[in-house]
Amino acid sequence: MIYEITLDTSKRSQFIDITGEVRNIVFRSDVEDGICMVYIPHTTAGVTINENADPTVRKDIIKYLEKYVPWRESYFEHIEGNSAAHIKSTLVGCSVTIPIKGRKLFLGQWQGIYFCEFDGPRRRRVFVKILSE
Ligand code: ZN
Repeated sequence: MIYEITLDTSKRSQFIDITGEVRNIVFRSDVEDGICMVYIPHTTAGVTINENADPTVRKDIIKYLEKYVPWRESYFEHIEGNSAAHIKSTLVGCSVTIPIKGRKLFLGQWQGIYFCEFDGPRRRRVFVKILSE
């Protein structure tokens, strides 16, 4: 079974905290110990784990990516015009794997799971696969 989360993003670049939704899926799955894989089926978005306390960390990551992967470059050839979003998607990656211990995500205290939009606003999907030990 694969669980699905649907998101509507509102900006071109945006990090959306999905930790709560993933936590609930893990809890409802009844798996005591195992693995949780969060996967996104998109080529202009990503998923990552990072700081959950200070929102300026996410802002700084987005600003850094905007600086080093600008929307327009004279050598980009992709006809859709969104090469920057494809590049950021590849840099960030499209899945994360988190251990499950005691029916809970075994995340660090300061870690959260973020859906990373790079070509919004769009409707997006996140798939969550739970494997039991
Ligand atoms: Zn494209």
